[in-house]
Amino acid sequence: MPTRNQIGWWWLYESPHSERNVVNKWAERFGRTRKIEHTCWKCGDLIKTKGMGVRAHIEAHKNGGSSKPENFFMLCVVCHLHQPDAMTRPEQIEWIQRPISHEKNVAIEMIYAYANITKEDAETAGVYSEDVIELITPDCAVSRHLTNFYSNVGWKLNKLVKDRNAELLARKAAAQKDSCSINL
Ligand SMILES: [Zn+2]
Repeated sequence: MPTRNQIGWWWLYESPHSERNVVNKWAERFGRTRKIEHTCWKCGDLIKTKGMGVRAHIEAHKNGGSSKPENFFMLCVVCHLHQPDAMTRPEQIEWIQRPISHEKNVAIEMIYAYANITKEDAETAGVYSEDVIELITPDCAVSRHLTNFYSNVGWKLNKLVKDRNAELLARKAAAQKDSCSINL
């Protein structure tokens, strides 16, 4: 496992041009004085204290991901929970460049809990954190009680996952039908 410093160093000075954007806008995103190894690269939270930050694999260890610095981001524990597992490296590199606040990540977790859905369920249907944020429309924000807010958005999330699953199944069925007709 590389150290935080080794991870930061690789991204700042050794990453290829095509991936340099992860840290290129560092000062703009997180402020000039913020150290790369002490900041969550997704939400910008300070992760100086041990236990707050995670050296997060980009390609999971179980999928053969390496232990070299280039296979890691620095994330806070909450963003680490939201890091998509099934995405490819280019997709993860795009994901980390779309900032999200720490508070929003915590809210998303509450919404999952109210919808009684796990992150894995949602991802299987192709629903990611960004989609959950989009469900938070002004009409949910006006609900007077926080519990109402979470259960409203939770309900929408449930419907979205159900709809996407149905869409995936329909697409699979259509593909199967196509391959049958080719075989005829
Ligand atoms: Zn974070």
